[in-house]
Amino acid sequence: MNILSAEFIKSSKYLEECPEANKPEYAFIGRSNVGKSSLINMLANKKGLAKTSSTPGKTQLINHFVINNSWYLTDLPGYGYAKVSKSERASFSKMIEKYVLGRSNLVNLFVLIDSRHLPMKLDVDFINWLGQNSIPFNLVFTKIDKISQREFSYNFKKYSQELRNTWEELPEMFKTSSEKKIGKEEILSFIEDTNKY
Ligand code: GDP
Repeated sequence: MNILSAEFIKSSKYLEECPEANKPEYAFIGRSNVGKSSLINMLANKKGLAKTSSTPGKTQLINHFVINNSWYLTDLPGYGYAKVSKSERASFSKMIEKYVLGRSNLVNLFVLIDSRHLPMKLDVDFINWLGQNSIPFNLVFTKIDKISQREFSYNFKKYSQELRNTWEELPEMFKTSSEKKIGKEEILSFIEDTNKY
């Protein structure tokens, strides 16, 4: 897919404030600092579209962009950042929960995982929760340029094993590096193939 245009639409605090659900929507989520903004900028071919390296946990808003005037790309707040107060954390996970369960035009949720780490409970719990709620999602391993092929294979295997404890089928997984522009075509092709509204 060629990206011809990528425009910011709005930031919303609640599901009810999101733009009209009149286009297929693809949302991106992950822990703060996972590389989500960099990935979105790589996909949209626009530096600075999503802000990179802002204070983690600060932007707890749902950001909508429209791509090629035909689909929404949604940047969800990072989850699991320890430095926000307990009440803030509770309110943003509720907000994510409401969005994920209630956004009628959501086609797919891309869950970003830092490929340098072994499976972390928070990510696995979130993935399991998505599965239990029949939310279509897949996994995007980020920053693969930061580790060797061997380390990646090991971490990837651990993830697959962890998920197989609960699920027979594994979601599609993407390997990416925004630094080295890896994985862009694969994700955009996936979006193109499923983008039928
Ligand atoms: P976000 O908080 O999830 O939006 O993460 P950012 O996109 O702001 O990235 C967090 C940090 O990781 C920044 O310092 C980025 O430059 C760095 N980063 C993001 N993606 C990559 C990548 O693919 N490779 C490398 N080496 N660094 C990355």
